[in-house]
Amino acid sequence: MEKIKIWVAAGLIVGSSNANAIIFNIDYSLDSNNFFSDQVRRDVFEAAAGFYESRISDNLLAINSSGSNQFNAKFFRPDTGVSETLNGFDVAADTLTVFVGGRSLGGSTLGVGGSGGYGLSASSTAFADNAVSRGQGDGTQASVEGPGAFDFATWGGAISFDTQSNWYFDDNVNTDENFSGFDFFSVALHEIGHLLGFGIADSWNNQIIAGTFTGSESEASFGGPVALNGGLDHWADGTSSGGQETNFDPTISNGVRKRVTDLDLAALRDIGWQVSVTPVPVPGAVWLFGSALLCLLKMSRRRNISA
Ligand SMILES: [Zn+2]
Repeated sequence: MEKIKIWVAAGLIVGSSNANAIIFNIDYSLDSNNFFSDQVRRDVFEAAAGFYESRISDNLLAINSSGSNQFNAKFFRPDTGVSETLNGFDVAADTLTVFVGGRSLGGSTLGVGGSGGYGLSASSTAFADNAVSRGQGDGTQASVEGPGAFDFATWGGAISFDTQSNWYFDDNVNTDENFSGFDFFSVALHEIGHLLGFGIADSWNNQIIAGTFTGSESEASFGGPVALNGGLDHWADGTSSGGQETNFDPTISNGVRKRVTDLDLAALRDIGWQVSVTPVPVPGAVWLFGSALLCLLKMSRRRNISA
């Protein structure tokens, strides 16, 4: 685990500006229903995570809880849906932790996912800003949360898949073939998209006008404001990009693969991610200065998704 040095002085955060590939730390330890006991299922999920790792580069500062600065990760357990808190949570630089598992979601829901919430007890404003912003935006909490948010950061989150659905687990997601069942790869891509802030981030919500998403990258890709579904957390059902129904609309049909489209990636750019084809990994350098007293507590809303 990377260590961060903290000096007690006036507040300023300096981070390296070169972007690194993001890394998913996939945690199967909260999967008591053994949805992921089959290695093929893990392989497909990891292929979906690998897609984003290959396309998204950014600089995420590490979160290192220590002494009077404690970051507590909050999320819904993937195997039970019960609220969980991990006190003194740490996550490495450029890394997102995702807890995955299965449970019966009922109805027509295939998966639910999203970024987690947090509780924070910090004696240092720098620690608080760092942990919440992870160096995104201008390095402050206000740039990634609330009405002025223009970027997004998270420690990670949780994703749960329905144990009752008829899934198709593809042992080679690079080839397209006929199949029956609901494509697990497509749904995994969709739920990871939510963990990355699609439909959830304040930087997403702040660009919604009259039921449409108005992010500049998305408008450029789509040719204008993009109509959203009623919950304002997906593209309108049936929205297409590049001749394919988007992955980030709310539904998927049996026997259909939906890869992530250009419009889906444009939304991730609008939320604040650096999306590129060939990310260049560069070790980040970080200095933190700051001293103050604050105590924050928050739990992000989690969206239920029929993917
Ligand atoms: Zn969704």
